Parts: sequence; structure tokens; C-alpha cells
Amino acid sequence: MPLADIRGHERIIEVLRRSLRTGKTAHSYLFEGIPGCGRKKTALALIQAIFCKAGEDDACGACPSCRKVACGSHADIHTVEPLPDKRDISIDQLREMQRTLSLRPYEAPRKACIIEPAERMSVNAANSLLKTLEEPPGDALIILLTENAGMLLPTIRSRCQLIRFAPLSPEHLLTLLELNGMESGAASLLAPISGGSMQRALELDNESLAVRRDNVISRLGKMDINRIATVFDAAEALSGNREETLELLDLLLSLYRDAIHLAAGSHEIVNRTASAAIEAIAARSSLPRIMELLDDIYQTRKDVQRNANPKLALDHLFMNIAADA
Ligand SMILES: [Zn+2]
Repeated sequence: MPLADIRGHERIIEVLRRSLRTGKTAHSYLFEGIPGCGRKKTALALIQAIFCKAGEDDACGACPSCRKVACGSHADIHTVEPLPDKRDISIDQLREMQRTLSLRPYEAPRKACIIEPAERMSVNAANSLLKTLEEPPGDALIILLTENAGMLLPTIRSRCQLIRFAPLSPEHLLTLLELNGMESGAASLLAPISGGSMQRALELDNESLAVRRDNVISRLGKMDINRIATVFDAAEALSGNREETLELLDLLLSLYRDAIHLAAGSHEIVNRTASAAIEAIAARSSLPRIMELLDDIYQTRKDVQRNANPKLALDHLFMNIAADA
């Protein structure tokens, strides 16, 4: 995929294309971002552009080299990742990679290597990479992908050009899911709650998501502030570990955003199959009050992200929600 077709990272793409135009691409890059936000696609697009002889600052997408990169069969691209039954990338794998890079490329102007996830290199492996990053054999291009650059040795970081990828916006994610062939109803349900990750969106099974959403709606509907146990029970049932609670809060955000749309007289809602429940939320409260609750949910999400106890955070949030019921 040419760089021009990468969605959601316009500034990064512009920087990379400028460096291609001026012949100033780095030897080693460190792409930081959550899995599924487009780091690897961008890495491959950059390699494709460097390999392609037709384009100046991007790949043509049509020549034999571009087609091989696109279908993952280019002999000059190497990937290093943990072996199937191993947690870490070993020093042996890095040595093997260094040996491969020192060989003459088959057809590309230089070899390229993607290391993923870079934070899983053992300390020995990482140390053995330092020299390669400084003077890549045969002018090779090395791209490290990581979720968190802070988990890498400072000596690795300082030898790479760091590029930070933000999570995809719900709008970009929606477009990408649709381009990926997902039906637009399902895509619009998943896009806002997948944390900006294409991978996460594809993982979240749409059907189980709808079941989960209905369960959440039903629990919320049974809460009664005059019987406080119903509130705490709902929090108990719906909270989980941090990840699960954040997912629940994303779901609530998407429901309350829809409620705001309905309360404001717009029928553009994401959770169309739950419209009756959302109408009930919209009918219960005034628009300013729903906006307050949406704020509460945002705040709770922030608190949980910052290590607040998920159950206690939900207790508090649900009391606010139940006070309206
Ligand atoms: Zn090409």
C-alpha cells in the first residue's frame, strides 16, 4: 500500500514523504503506537516506497517490486518477531538477522527489516542490535515497532528516529473497517469502542458485543437509587479488570453520545439496534443532564486509566446514573 493510502496519520506520512523527496530517510526508525493503529502498514509502505524505482516520494503500487511488497513475498524484507513458543526475541534471532542483512539484496536497492515487538528483545539481543543500528550492513533499513518506546534501552532509542503514532480516530477506524469489507452498521458500532485500534475492532466479535451491550442496558435499567444494592450489584456485575472496565465505559460513552443525539432531535445514532433503550435514556433526562452524565463517564474512564479501583469507580458513576432513573 503506498504511503498516500495510509489513513489517519497524515502528518507522519507527510514527514516520511518529505524525507524520501530529499533523500534523507533515516537508517533506523522506531515506530511507537498501540497495536492495530497502522505502524506496520506504514513501515511496509515506507519500505515499498524506498524499493520502488518509479515514484519519487511514494511507491507506484503497480511495479513488480511494489506488488511483491504488497503480497508479502519480497525477498529483501525480513521480519523478526518472537518464535511461536517464546516470549522474547532472542540474541540468536538478531544474529541471524544481522547475517541476512549483510548479504547483497536480491533485487531491492537495500534490504529492510522490521522488528516487532521491539520491547520483547532480550537485553542481550537489544545490546547486539546497537552496532547494527549505528552502521546497518549494506545500508539496510531497520524499523522497530513498539507499543512503548520507554520500555526500550535508551541506547536503542537514541539510535533510531522516533515516530509516534496516535490511536486512530473513530472516523478513520470506521472508514478502514468499511474498506476492509465490514458492513457499515457493524463498523459504526465497533469504531467508537475499539480504542483506535483496527486489530481490536476486528477482535471484538460484533455479535458478542451486541449481547454485551444488551446486558449492560438491562443492568442499568434495573438500577434503583432507592434500593442502593441494585446499584452496587450492577457495578459488581459489570466491572472487571481494568481493560474490561475501560471497554464497558467506552460502551457507555457510545450509548450516552447516542442519547444526546436523540435528545437533541437528531436520529444519527450508532447503536441503532438498541434505539429503544437509548430513547428511554433520552426521555428520562434533560439534554444538559445527559451531557453531565457523559462527562461523568469520561471522568470515570480517566480515573480507571489512572489506576482507580474499577469497582469503586463504577459504584460512584452508577449512583449518578441511577439518581436519574
Ligand atoms: Zn512501484
